[in-house]
Amino acid sequence: MKRTRTLVTGGAGFLGSHLCESLLDQGHEVFCLDNFFTGQKQNIVHLLDHPYFELIRHDVTTPFYIEADEIYNLASPASPIHYQYNPIKTMKTSLMGAIHMLGLAKRLRARILQASTSEVYGDPMVHPQPESYWGNVNPIGERSCYDEGKRGAETLFMDYHKQHGIPVKIIRIFNTYGPRMHPDDGRVVSNFIVQALQNKDITIYGDGSQTRSFQYVDDLIKGMIRMMQTPASFTGPVNMGNPNEFTIRSLAEKVIAMTGSRSKIVYRQLPSDDPKMRQPDISLATSELSWYPKIELEEGLGKTIAYFEQLLLEEKLVEKATTPTNGSRGRVLVK
Ligand code: NAD
Ligand code: UDP
Repeated sequence: MKRTRTLVTGGAGFLGSHLCESLLDQGHEVFCLDNFFTGQKQNIVHLLDHPYFELIRHDVTTPFYIEADEIYNLASPASPIHYQYNPIKTMKTSLMGAIHMLGLAKRLRARILQASTSEVYGDPMVHPQPESYWGNVNPIGERSCYDEGKRGAETLFMDYHKQHGIPVKIIRIFNTYGPRMHPDDGRVVSNFIVQALQNKDITIYGDGSQTRSFQYVDDLIKGMIRMMQTPASFTGPVNMGNPNEFTIRSLAEKVIAMTGSRSKIVYRQLPSDDPKMRQPDISLATSELSWYPKIELEEGLGKTIAYFEQLLLEEKLVEKATTPTNGSRGRVLVK
């Protein structure tokens, strides 16, 4: 088998680290590029001794040169608190990062995949969201640096394809969770699990009636790699998410039940432009890639809870796991 040389930008992040690992497992060579804004060495430390893994500290807002066959462009903060921390930098990362990586792909005639997002649909007026829906995005709101940055990146990808024949691939990722999310990442699944494991208040923003569809990381990584392998003419965009839709309140209740936590639910102000609902129409991914997610919420939450339990124990943020009392997972007590 030919060993593909693969560049993964944002490779030390949550999704990037899983992608690097899967690509190495499949026998590819991996160049993992990251500026460590939200990524962590801890995510990829187990890969550092692999003979076909290379770690590069670099920021995609400046050009980068390497010889590679494929590029996965994941560099971008993904959690609202992180992408809103420095909105200008977020936009630069999306747009300048896309330009630099597309320029690289053009010189190399390499395949390049863009990790786009369901946020391109904004607060959607169509439900569930098919790829043909153009979205309902506020261009000057709190989320705009991310949403419009990702929309602009999609435009660049398609224009490089049309103008220069670059084999581009665009996937629109819906809320994805799993091990290696940062405990302070701020996204809902990690927040709720970390709060529940410490018996702290579970913070629901708004009344919790807004919905999201939650995809387990392993399903996404399989879809991502499959998308890269499609014929050069197939660009997408393709939705990738789990169509099972839950209210945020029901997610909180599920996490409390599964951790056996004593946490109480508290309600906080809903951030502006927070989408009311989100559910992917994945018929394109199913017909073109024969891909559909296999891991349902309960199973994925179980694996993610086990990960955070271990992490919090190691960091001594919780005391010990007790024996399960109610048929659910063990409970962890605050120190
Ligand atoms: P993450 O924050 O864990 O990972 C992002 C990585 O990009 C981090 O390692 C970070 O340090 C790196 N990075 C950020 N700015 C950079 C820059 N200028 N130069 C180099 N590296 C930079 O987030 P994630 O959840 O792993 O998301 C990965 C990608 O997938 C992002 O592009 C995100 O927009 C997209 N995405 C994720 C989700 C999700 O639910 N996880 C949903 C939609 C889209
Ligand atoms: N959310 C919440 N409590 C939290 C974190 C998030 O109620 O501690 C809500 C948030 O307002 C949104 C949903 O959960 O409605 C998903 O938020 P997340 O940041 O995970 O991703 P989004 O899909 O909004 O980008």
